[in-house]
Amino acid sequence: MRSDHEGFVEASLHSNADDEHDPEGATIAFERSQVATLARQLTHQLAELDAARERLDAGTYGACERCGAPIPEGRLEARPAARTCVACAR
Ligand SMILES: [Zn+2]
Repeated sequence: MRSDHEGFVEASLHSNADDEHDPEGATIAFERSQVATLARQLTHQLAELDAARERLDAGTYGACERCGAPIPEGRLEARPAARTCVACAR
């Protein structure tokens, strides 16, 4: 059993050494794409917050961009950058 295990470890080490492709490559590519997705989401959120700050400056913050109705406080607490009321967001 012990020698089988050692043989397996040696074989897998050997196959990794022979492989041109980094065995971690797929994982790293996946993590990179996760990070890229996260970065895109954060960029989008920052843009939304920037727009919210502009509306704050313009005095239109908290008003629905589509119908002009006030956006409920609870919605603004949950989504400070919300542009529309619940009805218009649907
Ligand atoms: Zn609306």
